[in-house]
Amino acid sequence: MKLTTAPSVVEPARDFPELLPHARPVVRLHPRRGTPGPRESHIGGPLCWPAAEPWPECADHEDVNGRPYTLRMVAVAQLTAVDFPEIRFPDDTDLVQLLWCPDWHDQPHPEGWGQACRLFWRRTAEVTDPLARQPDPAEEWDDDLDMVPRPCVLHPERVTDHPGDEELPLGLGERFAAWLEERGLTDDLTAIPGYKLGGFLRWGTTDRPDPMDCGDCGAPLELFLQFDSSEYGLGTFGPDGAPHRFRPLEERDTDPSDALGEALREPVGMVIGRFSHGGLFTCTADPRHPASFFTQ
Ligand SMILES: [Zn+2]
Ligand SMILES: [Zn+2]
Repeated sequence: MKLTTAPSVVEPARDFPELLPHARPVVRLHPRRGTPGPRESHIGGPLCWPAAEPWPECADHEDVNGRPYTLRMVAVAQLTAVDFPEIRFPDDTDLVQLLWCPDWHDQPHPEGWGQACRLFWRRTAEVTDPLARQPDPAEEWDDDLDMVPRPCVLHPERVTDHPGDEELPLGLGERFAAWLEERGLTDDLTAIPGYKLGGFLRWGTTDRPDPMDCGDCGAPLELFLQFDSSEYGLGTFGPDGAPHRFRPLEERDTDPSDALGEALREPVGMVIGRFSHGGLFTCTADPRHPASFFTQ
């Protein structure tokens, strides 16, 4: 299935060339509920996990009496080099897996997320004896499912993202906002919503930390994966009242407000922050350094 983003009402080359140097390629993942296989790219599906390797646990918890306890981590995402050549895989790896703690940890997580959120970089061919029975989200984490994804297959689409105000040079964001306002247009160009690989996070609730550097080596962090409570808004956009740009063209004959429409708009079913979005940032020098998670 191919899912396609509508063109923006703003064409930067024609309308606002100052934005062009700040454009960055991004992959909209377009997760949709399904039954992904353990060797496929997915959100919330079974992992290609070596049977001999213990399932990761978060040990950063204490009960009311101060006794430590652990929580089994949740399989959040798995991405392959075949599907996502734009990921800078460390040498001899072609698979990346993300697991995190199902319980809420303080935000943001520039440090201390070594336990609560982990990326595993693997070589698929080395997993000759994969774990057949994996923790079942319904059994393990039924208390709090906000941070547990529904199994989804991915329909990657390559588009172009632009930074929001906070990541544009001083003044440029204001000029762009004023340009939009003069024409009665809404910004449908910057910080693309929904699940995506790369691109820019919208820092609408908290300021973007400055600097955003790797705790291990000091190199800048970059957005690796964005998680979003919703893929797109229900409202209309643009002067002609067109549907939200990020509602795929192929799905526009569905009613966005019924149960199917909701499943398309909120396929993963995770609630990030207060029904907002968050980003997992990795080190630009070595993605194996501890990742940081920021929510909005
Ligand atoms: Zn935890
Ligand atoms: Zn680093």
